Amino acid sequence: MRRTRPVLIAILCVFSAAALPAGAQERTAPPAGTGTLTKVERIDPAPEPQRAGLASITGRDSRTLVTCLASDLLEGREAGSRGYRLASDFAASLFALWGIEPAGDAADGEERGYFQDVVMKEYTDLGCAIEWRTGTPDGGAVRSFKEHADLENYYLNRVPETVSGPVVFAGYGLREEAVGYDDLSGVEVKDKIVMILDEVPGAGDPASPFAKDKLKEKYRTYASWVGRLAKANAVAKLGPKAVLVVRNTLDGRDIYPEMGRVEDDERPVIDEPTRLVVLPGTKRGGGAICITREMADAILALAGQSVESLKAKIASRWRPVSFEIGGGTLTVRTTAGDERLLRCRNVIGAITGSDPSLKEQAVVVGAHLDHLGKRGPYVFNGADDNASGAAGVLEIARAVAAQARKPKRTTVFCLWTGEEHGLLGSTHYVRHPAFPMSGTTAYLNLDMIGRNGDRGSRDSRLARLKVPVPDRAAILPGNFAAVAFSAGGDLGGVLREADRAVGLDLWQIEEAVPKSSGTVSD
Ligand SMILES: [Zn+2]
Repeated sequence: MRRTRPVLIAILCVFSAAALPAGAQERTAPPAGTGTLTKVERIDPAPEPQRAGLASITGRDSRTLVTCLASDLLEGREAGSRGYRLASDFAASLFALWGIEPAGDAADGEERGYFQDVVMKEYTDLGCAIEWRTGTPDGGAVRSFKEHADLENYYLNRVPETVSGPVVFAGYGLREEAVGYDDLSGVEVKDKIVMILDEVPGAGDPASPFAKDKLKEKYRTYASWVGRLAKANAVAKLGPKAVLVVRNTLDGRDIYPEMGRVEDDERPVIDEPTRLVVLPGTKRGGGAICITREMADAILALAGQSVESLKAKIASRWRPVSFEIGGGTLTVRTTAGDERLLRCRNVIGAITGSDPSLKEQAVVVGAHLDHLGKRGPYVFNGADDNASGAAGVLEIARAVAAQARKPKRTTVFCLWTGEEHGLLGSTHYVRHPAFPMSGTTAYLNLDMIGRNGDRGSRDSRLARLKVPVPDRAAILPGNFAAVAFSAGGDLGGVLREADRAVGLDLWQIEEAVPKSSGTVSD
């Protein structure tokens, strides 16, 4: 399915490029989201050590694995469910058949098994309500706002809690050095409740500095979940008690349809109880509470302002207008009907490296095995997300096992649980690694590798790379692979070299940040 909910957008793949060969050059990354395209004109024979392994990866086998993992029998593989348990048993059996070494937990005095237990905490029947109290405690007024009418709680980890504080209006919640614009300078947001507007200043206005070439491209996604989350998460780092994002800020947009709309959602409408699964001890994570313009106006009225008046003030000089609203206290109450512990598990296998000293280092290849489970009779099969990536890890494990000469470093194969709930299985692994993190040199993540999109998505990606129109048609969607990784290492070179015997049209996206988000495809 297409990415819809914030949690899904936030949990795209992470590819850590810690594996720098000696002498790797620092290089300047291309602008975010562009990258480079390498076409392989002639496919070379695979080097001898990898030949048997590469030959063992076939379309037929991959399809068989995906079909099995995505079958109704496995009920959508939700973390902690019977379907997930079956899927993880299946994966562990394959590891055993192929001679992959168990690298999961060891019971007392026993050898390691393939499973790593992950305990999660589940809250059900979550609710959220907000109160705006103005004036003195005895002579004041209280306005209440309701979930699904005035607000939607999109905190990724909204553990039950009550927070209270004054509201700080912080414009669009943006800091953009290129034009010297900073909504967050001059206001203290720590321990306050921050209200920011959706999108960027002057959306649709060609006079806005954010409508100019480079910034226009940079903020292209800011009218969607991607931008909303990026802004809310950046603001959350400053320590506010909660972040409110005002939706439907554009003129002429209907308030409630806009609030209720979830972009590109293909899911059927199912009346499901609200539920949260986190690692025990988790505090609230990223995300925000989305509120209607009406609700924002009711709060801003205390300062004699409204969303429209503040937008106009910012647009008059393209300067921030941020301030604390004096004399009011906002209380955000999130509640849960029930809570319990869930027992889940990662599946972990390994192939010991062939080099006597380098085998102490590990390269981890992983994918999430879990998906969204089922609601009533409807099964979220998750063939692409992420039976495809899990099948990819299994295929790579079998291929490495089939090689006469094993890779120099130890290869660790991981199938994660609880990714759909916020990277829970992999977070647990980082806290309790099968091999020390200090010796873990790279992580390769496979998420949704089953399809690379249709011609439209291929063309829009190639347009961003400025590939001439006549050349675009020569790149088949099925042969177009996108790989994202951190800039600064030589992973690009390693991938291009490896691709010579594979022949994908490789789109490599180097991200400037050390921990990047992107996709690893094919
Ligand atoms: Zn996924």
